[in-house]
Amino acid sequence: MTAAALEATDLYRFFHAGDDETLALRGVSLTVVAGEVVAVTGPSGSGKSTLLACLAGLDEPDGGVVRIDGERLSRRPEEERASVRARRVGMLFQQANLVGHLSVDDNLRLARRLAPRPETDLPSRAELLDRCGIAERAHARPAQLSGGELARAGLAVALANGPRVVLADEPTGELDEATARRVVDLLHRQAAEGAAVVVVTHSPEVAALAHREVRLRDGRVAA
Ligand code: ADP
Ligand code: MG
Repeated sequence: MTAAALEATDLYRFFHAGDDETLALRGVSLTVVAGEVVAVTGPSGSGKSTLLACLAGLDEPDGGVVRIDGERLSRRPEEERASVRARRVGMLFQQANLVGHLSVDDNLRLARRLAPRPETDLPSRAELLDRCGIAERAHARPAQLSGGELARAGLAVALANGPRVVLADEPTGELDEATARRVVDLLHRQAAEGAAVVVVTHSPEVAALAHREVRLRDGRVAA
C-alpha cells in the first residue's frame, strides 16, 4: 500500500479566550496524494489557516492526527516536527517566509542547509531562482523587494528542498495577475513532479485550476 503524501484524520482545534471558546476545526479529514493540487476555500474565519498550520505541524491539533508520507507529525516534540517539516514540507504563508537580513539567494542556501539531502536531484539554486522568476534579484534583501518579487522569492524558499507536501495560504492574494499565474503554475509543476499541494485561496480561478476543491464552513468540511 502506498501511503498518501498527506493524511489528516479528524482534526479538532479549540481556542480559548476568557469564557469564549472558538471551535476552529471540528473533525476535518483531508487526504492528498502525490501529484494532486487541492484548493481549500471557505469564508473568512472558517478555519482554513488553522488547518494549514496543523498540516504543517506549526500548530498542534487538540484531536486527530496528521501524517506525512505515513510519518506522524502530531503529538511529537517540536524538534521532531521541525525536522519532518524541514525535510518534507514547503510552506508559503501570507507573511513572507524569508529571513530579513539575508539576501534571497542566502535565504535559499539557509533553507537547504536546514534539510541536507545527499541526493543531487534538486535543481541548483540558480535554476530554482530562475524558475521562480527572481534570479535578477537574487542578491537583494527582502526589504528591497516589491510585493510580487517577495512572493516569488518566498516560493523559491518554499520549494527549496523539493518538498513532498506544499502548503500555501492565499499565495496569490495580493499579487498582480502575471505573478499570481506564475505562482499557480509553479505549484502545479511541483505537483506534477510528485508533491501533494494544498492551496488556501479566495480566488475562483485558482480553485478552478486545482484538481479538487475542499470547502470549509465553521470548522467542518462542507458537503
Ligand atoms: P480562516 O483562515 O478561514 O479565515 P482561521 O483558521 O484563521 O480562519 O480562524 C478560524 C477561527 O479560529 C476564527 O474564529 C479565528 O478567530 C479563530 N482563531 C484562529 N487562530 C486563533 C488563535 N490563535 N486564538 C484564538 N482564536 C483563533
Ligand atoms: Mg486565513
